[in-house]
Amino acid sequence: MHQKTIAELSQALAQGTYSSEELTKHYLQRIKQWDTSLNSFITVCEETALASAKSADEARRQGKAGPLTGIPMAQKDIFCTNGIKTTCASKMLENFTAPYDAMVVEKLNAQGMVMLGKTNMDEFAMGSSNEHSHFGPVKNPWNLDCVPGGSSGGSAAAVAARLVPAATGTDTGGSIRQPAALCGITGIKPTYGRVSRYGMIAFASSLDQGGPMTQTAEDAALLLNAMAGFDERDSTSLDAPVPDFTADLNQPIKGLRIGLPKEYFSAGLDPAVGDVIMAAIKEYEKLGAIITEVSLPNNHLAGPAYYVIAPAECSSNLARFDGVRYGYRCKEPKNLEDLYKRSRGEGFGEEVKRRIMIGTYALSSGYYDAYYLKAQQMRRLISEDFKRVFEKVDVIMGPTYPSIAFKIGEHSKDPLEMYLSDFYTIAINLAGLPGLSIPAGFANSLPVGLQIVGPYLNDSKLLNVGHQFQQHTAWHQKIPSQFAK
Ligand code: GLN
Repeated sequence: MHQKTIAELSQALAQGTYSSEELTKHYLQRIKQWDTSLNSFITVCEETALASAKSADEARRQGKAGPLTGIPMAQKDIFCTNGIKTTCASKMLENFTAPYDAMVVEKLNAQGMVMLGKTNMDEFAMGSSNEHSHFGPVKNPWNLDCVPGGSSGGSAAAVAARLVPAATGTDTGGSIRQPAALCGITGIKPTYGRVSRYGMIAFASSLDQGGPMTQTAEDAALLLNAMAGFDERDSTSLDAPVPDFTADLNQPIKGLRIGLPKEYFSAGLDPAVGDVIMAAIKEYEKLGAIITEVSLPNNHLAGPAYYVIAPAECSSNLARFDGVRYGYRCKEPKNLEDLYKRSRGEGFGEEVKRRIMIGTYALSSGYYDAYYLKAQQMRRLISEDFKRVFEKVDVIMGPTYPSIAFKIGEHSKDPLEMYLSDFYTIAINLAGLPGLSIPAGFANSLPVGLQIVGPYLNDSKLLNVGHQFQQHTAWHQKIPSQFAK
């Protein structure tokens, strides 16, 4: 069963090959058997999952089943779930249980999906390797000594090892696409505003976007159909009609104009990764695509702009965790100031504190103009680069991540080095564009992700372009041998 995609499972459920209860039990069993080695889940909710599976089977008997009814899935532990712990992988929220569901959770539950649990992540989604979790690092199923990528590393590892058919992730600067790339799965960061941020614990509000992490582009389209939509409880939610993201999947891509930004293929890219990407581009050429070189001359500004804007917004968003209203409170505070200082000092991990300090500094009077305003101006330049390029090409392609998965601990001493690895993904968030990562092959036996970026609101196009590749290649079907059986 676990070899199957959502589309296939959906068919099997409809034909009565097995019930949602059987399917759910199968995946719960796999989690029990394998997650001790992966650490991809923070919470597994066996009882509620089995209850939802039974309701899904009942709905089917009554003829009320949709395409996602009865399909098991997992939520990144950043989405609030009513009655089930939401920790954001932080000591700060270790015992926090939200009294409501995030919009994404509400919508997927409404489709009758079965939530198996909450996946591990970098604390408050800050990181690229999933080494910054209060609950310990997640392991890459292709090599347990390696990182799965971050911050949605638990979701990526769980899907790659087929402990769950699909999961949600969030992407502020690459956190859906990077772990998707390093674990060999498909992940899309939708156009900013497509998916409601209501109940998704905020990291950097102008960049955060939730999205699906799946085996295939087709599955991502199926999930995005359920996740997307206007929500008046999120002030940046996009009030635009939601298309059927599966409608264009089978459109031929003959004549598709693909731009390869020359800045993406320069120093810093592991040549073995570059070879895999170029082979994937060749495949597109065979399908009738036209390849041209393009330039994003301001791409080098993305890192500096992001690492001011994201920390600035995080320092403001995380101010609410003060030991009074939410989360962890220190023992025996001497006075109010001591309560604030120690609750935050003890509740947050190192990386989160580093970001809060950078952000607070950048926003402080005297530095605001020099850092925050400047970063916003750089953000404008970056967006304009994309606008110019999309006058000439339909999509941009390149690597999602500059290397294959590295060893746990290998880069953790140097935060700057880790920030640089976001080179290919963060500009997309700064510009609010949709970005997809699909499995493109292997280098040194580890997966490589191809990133496909399109103009604003062209999510369907990306899924079409990803799906067509997956109709002609089999990289997305590869399962790490240890987890295949
Ligand atoms: N790696 C980036 C960071 O650490 C992006 C994280 C994310 O997308 N949530 O901020």
